[in-house]
Amino acid sequence: MLSEIQHSHPLVYKHFSNIEHGEFWLKRIMELDRYWSQVGSRPAPEVIFDGAKLPKDIEISGEFDAIYAGATLGLLHAAALTDLFGKSVLVIDKYTPAKTHRDWNISLRELQRLDAMGFLKQSETEKAITKTYKTGFVEFAARKNRKRLFINHVLDCAIESDVILQLALHKVLARTENAVLAQTAFQRCWKVDGGVVVEVRREGSPQFFKAKVLVDTMGIMSPIAMQLNSENGVVRPQTHICPTVGTLASGLEEIDYDIGEILVSTEPADTSHGSGRQLIWEGFPASDTLFTSYLFFYDRIDSDNDKSLLNLFETYFEKLPTYKKPSAKFHIEKPVFGIIPAYHHDGFGKTRVTADDGIVLFGDAASLSSPLTFCGFGSMVRNLERTASKLADALSQNATTKTDLDAISAYEPNVAIMSNLMKFMCYDARTDEPNFVNELMNEIMKVLDELPPRFRETLFRDEMSLADFTTLILTVGAKFPKIFPITYQKLGVSGSISWLQNWAGWVARSLSTTQ
Ligand SMILES: Cc1cc2nc3c(=O)[nH]c(=O)nc-3n(C[C@H](O)[C@H](O)[C@H](O)COP(=O)(O)OP(=O)(O)OC[C@H]3O[C@@H](n4cnc5c(N)ncnc54)[C@H](O)[C@@H]3O)c2cc1C
Repeated sequence: MLSEIQHSHPLVYKHFSNIEHGEFWLKRIMELDRYWSQVGSRPAPEVIFDGAKLPKDIEISGEFDAIYAGATLGLLHAAALTDLFGKSVLVIDKYTPAKTHRDWNISLRELQRLDAMGFLKQSETEKAITKTYKTGFVEFAARKNRKRLFINHVLDCAIESDVILQLALHKVLARTENAVLAQTAFQRCWKVDGGVVVEVRREGSPQFFKAKVLVDTMGIMSPIAMQLNSENGVVRPQTHICPTVGTLASGLEEIDYDIGEILVSTEPADTSHGSGRQLIWEGFPASDTLFTSYLFFYDRIDSDNDKSLLNLFETYFEKLPTYKKPSAKFHIEKPVFGIIPAYHHDGFGKTRVTADDGIVLFGDAASLSSPLTFCGFGSMVRNLERTASKLADALSQNATTKTDLDAISAYEPNVAIMSNLMKFMCYDARTDEPNFVNELMNEIMKVLDELPPRFRETLFRDEMSLADFTTLILTVGAKFPKIFPITYQKLGVSGSISWLQNWAGWVARSLSTTQ
């Protein structure tokens, strides 16, 4: 497969030829790139059926309280459900459970929540931490008065994701009634009395399992999420996305291994394709010699930009020397990549469908993590106790209708509203001058610099309060009045109304929880 891209993607070819399992990684990238041909296509996948259509002659191989399809964040959730609430779980993955193609950054204080909820002890999760940093910064390539905004206690520790997932795997396997199946792909399911029957494909053959609830944690490619979130039969599972590629590598120059680079841009928008994209870097030391660097851009799902991960990888290798220069000792440990989902809720609350009768979606399949910071792991950690305990209650009470399960989600109004800010990061050559995103973000970093540190910390940790968000927006408006015409130009009337609705929904939710 690598040889097929030798001429079309010479830099990917060169580097992946030297990476361990280069062919395998290329296959995974191409598999994810199939997402682009599915979005906007018709008809939507049909994988959820009524019980009346269940074939009569099937044999059920096992029954569980919950079946988790997808063993990345799904494994973490399943482990909490079984370890803390004693529910039986089957976890399947079409590849190897507890093995992912991305590493995570999180703040130490967020990670401590796993201990506080009685799930994974701090002494256990510390084994997954490969590096902690003194501080981190955000810097956009403004032409003048460029602000490097330092932020403490944000994404300040690097996690080896497979280590934390192994801890979850052991928790699941510690109970004999549970099972974890590798190389087992979800195919379809039927809503029957008392739960869901799930068909999987394992070693080339179909197999059937039953559970009270099917938990969809299949990520961005989830056919369930696509079916539930299609409009008039057209697949429209997300409103925005962030194609991301990068490497975990050694031998890069000019790195301070005590500092995380949270968001960094080095040049104006790339206008060579479609409506244009503002490329942004992120870089985190993963140890004292390894550095994880990502290249990504924020975009609308329906823009005409080139969003292919494979093409973005070629751009990554081409532009890497403008961010961190590879030395003669440059060595890639592994590629990291993904299509990070984002959703703008056009209304007062959650408008994305994240449940059906007997089915609930978590993780990227649910697409409820921050559309600005894209911390899906952080969102899972923050909401784990709440979503796992509510799911356990629903299972105990057999309250598993669509309405019951829709109420169990990682939706947070303070996180959802960030989609309105994210829209400013989506460059559009038809309305924006090439350095638009950099100049605007530089102004916002200057405002954040003048506000107390908690503003920048909670903004980037997805924990901002209503009062602080309101103060931030009013301060930006007062110090940078150009934001009003820019907002009108970027969001239009309907987008501005939608933002106000998000805000009103947040206010209503805050009032209801304080009463
Ligand atoms: C490059 C990159 C860096 C990131 N960095 C951070 C970070 O620093 N901090 C942070 O908080 N978040 C980060 N994120 C976001 C975070 O990684 C995701 O939100 C998280 O991985 C989502 O997990 P998931 O289990 O929902 O989906 P995925 O990670 O996509 O996992 C889905 C799983 O489902 C399996 N699967 C798919 N289809 C099927 C099927 N039909 N049958 C069975 N199994 C199936 C897949 O094999 C996979 O194991 C990053 C994302 C990317 C792409």
